[in-house]
Amino acid sequence: MGRRSLKRVCTRSEGGSVNTFAERADNWENTADSLPFVLRPRPVQGELLDAYLHRLLRVNGYQELRGLVEASPLARTSKLEFLQRHASLQEEELGRLMDPEHVVIEAKEHRKLFLTPRIRWCPKCVVENGIFLANWAYRTTVICVKHRSYLRDECPSCHSPQLARSLPGLCKCGLILTRSEDHAVPEPLYRLQQKLHRSLFCEGSQALFGLTYFKAAKLAHYMGMLACGSGKQSLRESALSCRLFNDRVLMTAAANTLDRWPESFLTLLALNQALPSTQSVRRDFGVVYTVLYRCLRGSEYQFLRDEFEKFVNDHWQGALTKRNKSFSRGTLAKHPRMTLKDATAKSKAAPSVLKRLGTIVAAAEVGTTHGRRITTVETRRLQHIDGVTLQKAAQLLHLQERRIRLLIEAEIIKADISPVIYKAAAWFISLHQLHRLIFHNQGHRAADAVSFTHVMKCGKLTNEEFIGLVKALMTGKIQTVNGSASTIPLGQARVSRVALTEWLQKFRFDNDLPLSVDQAAKALGIKQEVAYFLVRKGLLISCSGRTQGSVQVRQKDLKSFQAKYVSLATLAKKRGTSPKTLRLCLLCDPATGPDVDGGRQYFYRVADLNDKADERIAASARFLMHGNGSTID
Ligand SMILES: [Zn+2]
Ligand SMILES: [Zn+2]
Repeated sequence: MGRRSLKRVCTRSEGGSVNTFAERADNWENTADSLPFVLRPRPVQGELLDAYLHRLLRVNGYQELRGLVEASPLARTSKLEFLQRHASLQEEELGRLMDPEHVVIEAKEHRKLFLTPRIRWCPKCVVENGIFLANWAYRTTVICVKHRSYLRDECPSCHSPQLARSLPGLCKCGLILTRSEDHAVPEPLYRLQQKLHRSLFCEGSQALFGLTYFKAAKLAHYMGMLACGSGKQSLRESALSCRLFNDRVLMTAAANTLDRWPESFLTLLALNQALPSTQSVRRDFGVVYTVLYRCLRGSEYQFLRDEFEKFVNDHWQGALTKRNKSFSRGTLAKHPRMTLKDATAKSKAAPSVLKRLGTIVAAAEVGTTHGRRITTVETRRLQHIDGVTLQKAAQLLHLQERRIRLLIEAEIIKADISPVIYKAAAWFISLHQLHRLIFHNQGHRAADAVSFTHVMKCGKLTNEEFIGLVKALMTGKIQTVNGSASTIPLGQARVSRVALTEWLQKFRFDNDLPLSVDQAAKALGIKQEVAYFLVRKGLLISCSGRTQGSVQVRQKDLKSFQAKYVSLATLAKKRGTSPKTLRLCLLCDPATGPDVDGGRQYFYRVADLNDKADERIAASARFLMHGNGSTID
């Protein structure tokens, strides 16, 4: 111990001679009851040990600590012993003093990562106490949580630092350093600093994700780096630069990332993800990967990796393999994607088919480390690719291929690969699509059942009506009846004839579909040849049908005929008399009929039959009946 270097700055000793501290200490050792320090200020809770030593020396007129105790941080014990011996500090008082360097070494942590070489101070605290606090030496401390203001680490005028031996709050340039910065501390940063402060002082407190102080500080440090977008090189450089401003930026960025957990972290991951994806998760997430799997590899940070791996499973388009050993087994098991090669082996579908089914299997192209491009697909979706060809679909549904094409055209069946669109060799229709056309047997029975195939063959349904009928079967508007098995493919379905006819009439009317003359005759309740005659005479307006020479009647024309004309038979039935009698009673002429134009049935214009007609009919009927009666008499 070089006591010779100790110098006294002001001469207080008796006799005017200048004594060194060492000389005096030698004397004190000889006289054990006397103490070297006349003034013995008490340490404040949390005071920096070195700063207290200097404070003690300063008030007693000494300038330097050097030579008094060892300067190395390991010499904490000797410093404490010195204080106990020469300043007569009690155990409890010694306990108030803190030595961050010693704490870091004891915890076997990286000194540069946690400690600042420059003393930081809160100007307001310095005004109140005139001391340096130990927690200001930690790099994570950038604000004073008591005053909610930023710390300083240099004189705003001459940029000189404060030293442990400096008088707190006074720069060597003479500036008083008790003015704090005007900038307000943002809420997230304040919350993070509070948590770190708590975990620093209460050993049991695990305010930040259950982490002890050093773990929490490390987390904040690296999250700050990631949020600042530091590359690998700058990660190292930034770790070396321990200046307050740098740490302030880091802590603010970390606070924003850790504040709304995990949303902000997920945003950070998204911002750091390289797009388009490659087959290397390490390359795509770069620094994030390095930080999560190297810098913060401890098990206490597993929650970070869990979030990251979940993000990878949700948003990364590459395929994880067993070679990604750093990922947890759970993540690998849950990973949703695989390469096209693996998918081909698993699904037994040709690679070309899988590629064509792009959107269905959520295919994505990713680059490999060798510069090639490979396709990955979503594993879960492979189960949807159990498709069949058009021929097979027709067999399954017991329908003609032509009908399947109609169903595809009407989008009742959605083909995954269509030769029409993709120029592929064959159709590819997923079974899941066909299952919608295989009905469950509900056990309905009907005496007038007719098979769907028969309706297709002989029902003369148009394509539109066919599609309508299929939809009606699918929605249950028409029920399948007399089923023999539990499931009924469309082609083998049976329906009630009455229900079908009713539905068909309504369908035609609702959709304004043209009727054949036969169908029009049925709708009017007249014979076919009568209907043809009416069409020929132009009373029932017609149009030409799809095939050459065929004639059809539109719904509106049918309606207008029904509004304009009425048959003699209908009139007679309504009045409960015979057509012959009624014919004689009616004064107006029929529009068509055997007497008029050689037609087979009488039709009257509704307009000709005014209200008085009924009275006349009644009178005439009475007259005719009376006449008959008199002849008998
Ligand atoms: Zn303060
Ligand atoms: Zn200054």
